[in-house]
Amino acid sequence: MTGTQAVGVQASEGRADEGRADEGRADMGRADEGGVADERWASEVRRLAARRDAVILAHNYQAPEIQDVADHVGDSLALSRLAAASTASVIVFAGVYFMAETAKILAPDRTVLIPDPRAGCSLADSITAQQVREWKAEHPGAAVVAYVNTSAEVKAESDLCCTSANAAQVVASVPADREVLFLPDQFLGAHVRRVTGRANLHVWLGECHVHAGISPADLRRKAQADPRAELFIHPECGCSTAALWQAGEGDLPAGRTRVLSTGGMLEAARTTAAPAVLVATETGMLHQLRRANPAVHWEPVNPGAVCRFMKMTTPAALLRCLREGVTEVTVDPGVADRARRAVQAMVA
Ligand code: SF4
Repeated sequence: MTGTQAVGVQASEGRADEGRADEGRADMGRADEGGVADERWASEVRRLAARRDAVILAHNYQAPEIQDVADHVGDSLALSRLAAASTASVIVFAGVYFMAETAKILAPDRTVLIPDPRAGCSLADSITAQQVREWKAEHPGAAVVAYVNTSAEVKAESDLCCTSANAAQVVASVPADREVLFLPDQFLGAHVRRVTGRANLHVWLGECHVHAGISPADLRRKAQADPRAELFIHPECGCSTAALWQAGEGDLPAGRTRVLSTGGMLEAARTTAAPAVLVATETGMLHQLRRANPAVHWEPVNPGAVCRFMKMTTPAALLRCLREGVTEVTVDPGVADRARRAVQAMVA
């Protein structure tokens, strides 16, 4: 789902009484249009969330001020679990569109809002449901394993859904003699093929433009510049496949090179003994890592690895979302029913 695809997105009307009650605060909305995330803004966000009985979920790649005002911050899997377990009437998803769709699939009776429906994902956009159907027709009987970064329609065509944290286990759960179609991320797919040693794993050639922009050359240069540093590499990164090969060749420090999901990075952050860590993923992750272990010097491998879709959740957009109840995310019930099997397998 691109952020520009409006199908399945509808603006719900804000409550009439709330509109009146907020008239006196209209000046704040205008003042905040510049994106000032101060204490007044944060307390207004919290007030409006309480009023709507809303829980705010923020992805690790969100801007620091959005992470700080949220109820929960995490990766796709953690946030999916929280959405499924939450008893709040409204789920505000500060992330990208497919994540809000996944929350709606898991919590169909709840209202799911996204602050900016244009927040798409280049990786999710790299395959359509029609392309999955055609790929399946070429490999009859194969199991389709979809990374969570996919549209609801693509999930509905899949047998199993996974995150970067559990992709290898999910693939390993498929009988060894059954072909696997892994989509859409080629770097994660290559990582899974290496970990599982599976020859009958076919990988879709999709990629995330942000992660693909973190190159092996960046990694080698940074690692050589600081020989004390550990390397935390997300398996979606363009450098991950090459990084493991480089480590094997002695080009990178094998003992200090770790391929980790974002959740795995946070766990490793709490226990690392290294004085410095180079991080190969979207730079929003640095905020949580610094909080988890302030004694470590955290440095992005590529400071330009910024997802503009994730940064569409501005302070002004979040405030408007809570004030006006926009934008509501809907998923066709038939698509949601078919996608739910695959997503529930991932969450379980
Ligand atoms: S960082 Fe890449 S995979 Fe993540 S939301 Fe942005 S475009 Fe999608």
